[in-house]
Amino acid sequence: MTDTRKDWDTYFMDIAYMVSTRSRCSRRHVGAVLVQGKKLLGTAYNGAPMGMPDCSEAGCMISEEVSLVHIDGEQQMLKKQRCIRTIHAEQNLLLFTDRIDREGSTVYVSDEPCWTCANMLANSGIVEIVFHRSYPKDTDKVTQMMNSKGIVFRQLASYEPPTDTLTTVSN
Ligand SMILES: [Zn+2]
Ligand SMILES: [Zn+2]
Repeated sequence: MTDTRKDWDTYFMDIAYMVSTRSRCSRRHVGAVLVQGKKLLGTAYNGAPMGMPDCSEAGCMISEEVSLVHIDGEQQMLKKQRCIRTIHAEQNLLLFTDRIDREGSTVYVSDEPCWTCANMLANSGIVEIVFHRSYPKDTDKVTQMMNSKGIVFRQLASYEPPTDTLTTVSN
């Protein structure tokens, strides 16, 4: 008899996507879960601090960021708009879990972490990050850091999220 159950990667990524549906930011719905072995230790999504108006009530708080990058030996300015009203899912996950639980654990997150979240995750005790959707802007520097920290950083390329967890977001 074949085992038709979902594999663990799919199982935990499905939960991350389920959690992401709680987000009220119209730009991006991100879900993250903390897993130790096969045990779920925490869930989090991107959102405003408790008791504060969220993006659906107060609108996104848009900030424009500029980063200097080198393309073909030339320095260029890359501009990117992002919503700074919300605490990112990965950061909320760190706020709601204990360091002792995080030691040696894995984070499943629907979207590739931004540089700030990756930086915090790299210092959080976790040993593996599994993500699904790409966030190309920070991929190079995040991958480089994870390599030098010895943190497994992998994308579930062939994964397909449950359709009822997907929301249309404007970027
Ligand atoms: Zn927002
Ligand atoms: Zn982030």
